[in-house]
Amino acid sequence: MRFYKCAAYVLFAISLCNLGFSAYMYRELRTPNVIVAPDPALREIKEHSIMRDTQLLQGILMIHHDRNMHKPGDQMLCPLCDQFRQNSKLVNNE
Ligand SMILES: [Zn+2]
Repeated sequence: MRFYKCAAYVLFAISLCNLGFSAYMYRELRTPNVIVAPDPALREIKEHSIMRDTQLLQGILMIHHDRNMHKPGDQMLCPLCDQFRQNSKLVNNE
């Protein structure tokens, strides 16, 4: 009988530890303690990534254009469509 009593206490203690640890981890994960210093290079990186994204998008759109996946002249941001529109404008003006 005594053994079971001990086991109950031990299990209770373990569950308390577990609960405490869970609460601790929850708080730690909720409040990020990594402080990112405002880096002047960070903005540059942001701008570069935006430029790279634009170039990637334009590359994809150019492939789409090549495969006739969109109508020429209809797609925004597509360099080939811009060219197409400029050419048609020139044709219309003549
Ligand atoms: Zn296009």
